[in-house]
Amino acid sequence: MDVEPYMLHPKKIYLDHNATTPVDPRVLEAMLPYFTEKFGNASSTSHSFGWDAEEAVGIAREQVAQLIGAKPGEIYFTSGATEAINLAMFGICDYKMNNGNHIITCLTEHKAVLDTCRELEMQGYEVTYLKVDNSGAIDLEILRKSITKRTVLISLMAANNETGVLHPLNEIEAIATAYGIPFLTDATQSIGKIAFDVENNLVDMAAFSAHKLYGPKGIGALYVRSDAPFTLSRRLFGGSHERGLRPGTLNVPAIVGFGKACELCAHEWEKDFNRLGTLRNYLENELRKSEDVQINGYHSPRLPHMTNISFNNIDGSRLIRSLKNLAVSQGSACTSATWQPSHVLKSMGLTDELALSSIRIGLGRYTTEEEINIAISSIKEAIEKLKLPA
Ligand SMILES: *Cc1c(COP(=O)(O)O)cnc(C)c1O
Repeated sequence: MDVEPYMLHPKKIYLDHNATTPVDPRVLEAMLPYFTEKFGNASSTSHSFGWDAEEAVGIAREQVAQLIGAKPGEIYFTSGATEAINLAMFGICDYKMNNGNHIITCLTEHKAVLDTCRELEMQGYEVTYLKVDNSGAIDLEILRKSITKRTVLISLMAANNETGVLHPLNEIEAIATAYGIPFLTDATQSIGKIAFDVENNLVDMAAFSAHKLYGPKGIGALYVRSDAPFTLSRRLFGGSHERGLRPGTLNVPAIVGFGKACELCAHEWEKDFNRLGTLRNYLENELRKSEDVQINGYHSPRLPHMTNISFNNIDGSRLIRSLKNLAVSQGSACTSATWQPSHVLKSMGLTDELALSSIRIGLGRYTTEEEINIAISSIKEAIEKLKLPA
């Protein structure tokens, strides 16, 4: 089949891969038969239409599990990371209802975690939001001291979606284990991009999404360690799909695509990691030649394929508007509709003004050196044109 990715829009260079990624043509090709001739319901046990679908789901579950070193039975398909996070957080809180009502998370988490925490606060939970320093790092000693007898969950993301800053999962896990507290990580930006393996990163639960790793939208997964000392309480009812945790007819084409996307990442993430890391560093080094430029999280371990850049003395909304040929984002995609300064950048000590003058650039599998060269010259041009009198 002759499908080309987003390069069909030659006038706009897509540099927003942290918001979503294009579907890899190989993923689309794997999905298509499951819309047409292989349309069966994976729960139909009385005929081959159902068996074919069930088998495809089984293969996909193995592919997803394999990417993170998990067992297939530890993967629960959901509609995405948001749902996986909701199932995990509410599921733990219900299960531990009689053990406590305290949750620890961080100010720079994605809204999927923060909004769930807000809802839990409405229901009487207490939430500690760890602060970060100006490089985006949490203080592990403060994490340790925040733990109380009533703490039921630690939820800290693997990599930040706005800055790419990584949390030290192993150190966090060691603390969580020492106190016997379940540890959930939102690994949506890490899985498929950097090494993430539940044999090494001993998290109890991890949430992720297919559309951030070249799979389709509307499908994701929750990983739950099989020997975890808890069982998630059910939040949804309607059947025994996904071992009762997530009932409802499985989205077979999306699951097949998710599986294929994970298989491709397992083989290709390191190649992308190295190539995109080099291109990202080149982009940053070129832009840092201007003294008006600051890279957020520069001194922290970060994802290799993205950067978050603040421009001093430049109006951020005018900057985005003048970069007409580039699809980049201001703050995170989820809040950029409202033009609020990014909560992540503000937590790192940026002023509202500087946070609003920041852009996130996310490279991806199809990003070329030529595109990065165009991005560099477009941004340099915009800086010159828009610079406000000091
Ligand atoms: C994209 C993203 C999510 C939400 O994923 P959905 O697929 O939209 O549910 C959650 N957390 C992080 C860090 C993300 O980047």
